[in-house]
Amino acid sequence: MTDDYLIRHDTGFDRVLAFSVPARHARGRVVRLGPVLETVLSAHDYPPVIKHLLAEALVLTALMGALLKEEGSQMTIQAQSEGAPVDLLVCDYRDGEVRGYVRHDDAALEGLSENPNLEALFGKGYLAITFDLAATGERYQGVVPLEGESLAQACETYFAQSEQIPSLIRVAVRTNGPRCNAGGLLLQHLPDSEEGKERLHAGEEHPDWEHVSILAATIQPEELVDPILTLEQLIWRLFHEEEEVRVEPLAPLARGCRCTVEHYQKILSRFPEDQREEMRDPDGLIPVDCAFCSKILRIPA
Ligand SMILES: [Zn+2]
Repeated sequence: MTDDYLIRHDTGFDRVLAFSVPARHARGRVVRLGPVLETVLSAHDYPPVIKHLLAEALVLTALMGALLKEEGSQMTIQAQSEGAPVDLLVCDYRDGEVRGYVRHDDAALEGLSENPNLEALFGKGYLAITFDLAATGERYQGVVPLEGESLAQACETYFAQSEQIPSLIRVAVRTNGPRCNAGGLLLQHLPDSEEGKERLHAGEEHPDWEHVSILAATIQPEELVDPILTLEQLIWRLFHEEEEVRVEPLAPLARGCRCTVEHYQKILSRFPEDQREEMRDPDGLIPVDCAFCSKILRIPA
């Protein structure tokens, strides 16, 4: 066991901390990913720029997914484009499990700078953010253009436009050879406190929001990925002058996929038999490709 290993586990990688500043009507999530992120990235031989993009997307997935309260609810982010270096990015969160995948064109990436903006990666693409609520079966989806410097910025736009919730999002990614860790912060203003209700007084100009967002914006990328700094210490650094800050650790994150034989059998059962027959291989099994895991399952169906 190396020191690196110990540090990772002692300071809590793959954790999400929920926090709120009640007097300011602000809530948030802070996350740090380590081994879970490395597992997702290792499914494909991604070039560095795609690794960075997917790492950022997974942090956002964990931050936004951790806003869900009921078991079985899901949050999905999907970025899509055509004829661009990246034509598909999809990540989702359910019950603390995250997964993600990027489909890209290696040749088209070659001309890009080290830190390409969204337009360079996606051309004229769109980002869809979907919350599927288990309890009510409701689905909330917002679609925003893939514009700006980063996915984090596009997600801020989503909250401002689709949900009218002023939000600040910061993400940092650190790669060192095969090692990769990443961290993120999401802060939101919910003045009518009860989530889901119409928020008449929310606004970028609200003095409470101005106050907490200025504090949160002082966070440095190095702090988000510093393995020595716990998430609790990070929140303390930002908000220690507030009269009350509540923190609540959420269930640890894991890398999860739903590509089981049973899952695909259920999907394949919806196809007519003659189509299933066409899909069968010489052994009578239907090969199914899970892009998240980069593996082919052969399904008896
Ligand atoms: Zn899978």
